[in-house]
Amino acid sequence: MMMERIVTLSILSIVLVSSAPTTTPNYWALRHNILHEEAVQSIGGNLPLEGQERAANTRLMIHKKQEIDKAFLNPDIFLPARNFLEAFGDIEKSRVFQIIKKLPKGAVLHVHHKAMVHADWIYNATFRENLYVCDRNGDLELQFFRTPSRDCDWKLLSHLRKNPILAESINERIRKQLTMVVENPEQVYSHIDVGWIKFEQIFDFITPVIGYKPVAEDHFYQGLKELYDDNVLYVEVKSGVPKLYDLDGRRYSDNEVVGIFEKVTQRFKNDHPDFIGVKIIYTKGRMLSDAKVHGFMDRVVQLKRDYPDFIAGFDLAGQEDKGKTLRSYADRLNELKKQINFFFHAGETNWYGTSTDENLIDAVLLNTKRIGHGYAIMKHQRVLDYVKLNRIAIEVCPISNQVLGLVKDLRNHPASVLFAEGVPVVISNDDPGLWGSRALSYDFYEAFMGIMSGNADIRALKQLAMNSIIYSSLSPGEQARAMNIWKKKWISFVNELSSGII
Ligand SMILES: [Zn+2]
Repeated sequence: MMMERIVTLSILSIVLVSSAPTTTPNYWALRHNILHEEAVQSIGGNLPLEGQERAANTRLMIHKKQEIDKAFLNPDIFLPARNFLEAFGDIEKSRVFQIIKKLPKGAVLHVHHKAMVHADWIYNATFRENLYVCDRNGDLELQFFRTPSRDCDWKLLSHLRKNPILAESINERIRKQLTMVVENPEQVYSHIDVGWIKFEQIFDFITPVIGYKPVAEDHFYQGLKELYDDNVLYVEVKSGVPKLYDLDGRRYSDNEVVGIFEKVTQRFKNDHPDFIGVKIIYTKGRMLSDAKVHGFMDRVVQLKRDYPDFIAGFDLAGQEDKGKTLRSYADRLNELKKQINFFFHAGETNWYGTSTDENLIDAVLLNTKRIGHGYAIMKHQRVLDYVKLNRIAIEVCPISNQVLGLVKDLRNHPASVLFAEGVPVVISNDDPGLWGSRALSYDFYEAFMGIMSGNADIRALKQLAMNSIIYSSLSPGEQARAMNIWKKKWISFVNELSSGII
């Protein structure tokens, strides 16, 4: 308060006595204080530099400054200002990105199960036996069968691929239907709905491939592997728990599918003993009928009862502008919150003062533990106050917001203010496999280079990693273990960075 008064007075005195010299000693002291207080308040700003962190930070910041200084003179090359769909190859060449890949990043708390895995892996899965293909109105569909159904002109894919000319064209069509990646994304995805339509089409296309039980198990394992290889220790996966199938025509129930995910997790943990684990956030589409959504709310209570440590909570997802609001389910959700934790997507919109935008208010009133995206939160200062007071983390997903049309240049992402104000934030990847990304490092890079201050340093990355454990659904005991494992990895990362091994 005192500071504000001094600043106001000094600005007034400059305006009133414009001919007076402004560079008084007091001016420089104030200027220094403002910068210092801003730095301390921003993410990681109040962490000390410990051990080898100072030396590691110097190396990291040399590369960060070089990259920013170069782009400052030639803005076209600034990677966070370019669309990720065409920039990801250049991001991989960045020294900062290569350092971030080695960084122990803690946890991913917002990733959708069907989009966890890179498209190349799913493409390779189309070479498995018993996969059939059909062309329905110009779009390919894939499905595993022992004997194909008669609803389409199904052909065995492996058989078609024996013809080299046919194989080339069909492989190209499959690849295109697996990804949003195009050479000219700005033209192709001219507005938000076009991007979302393609996004949803990919989900429809891959669902029967990754819904086949043998593929589903390998796919989930691969999702964990891609994150683990990217130095992620723990994951909260948003999943609608798809009905898996096998060649005998068996459909697996939600309860069985959760059991399958839990078994795969256990197998992964056995193979990687320092991996902390997985929890599932049961997440259903907000476009579905009221009756269905109410059914899912009953279902999540049963699942939580059967898998108390594995099911973390409930969420609604899908294009928020087109879907049902949280308000429309408020009565039921108020009942449900006594039995289950919420992790709502909210405020993933550019429409200010709409029903979508107001989801932010309902989310916090319904005691959401974190907010997915919260892209519009800066327009709702009371919600922001509430979030700060109650330590509700905002799950910022930079690449998702850009690819799905909320922001073109990530320097304009509203999370800049969240970082500046030290609001609890975690960085997540949302649906990396659908847009040519892999695991978490790309989103960390975009946040560190494009959304945070140019002065944000290794302490900001450290705080982000710690936040992902602090704001997770891990029990206090699990959290302490995760933090211990993470700290050891952090120290070895810092030592490697400071000694030039990285
Ligand atoms: Zn999401």
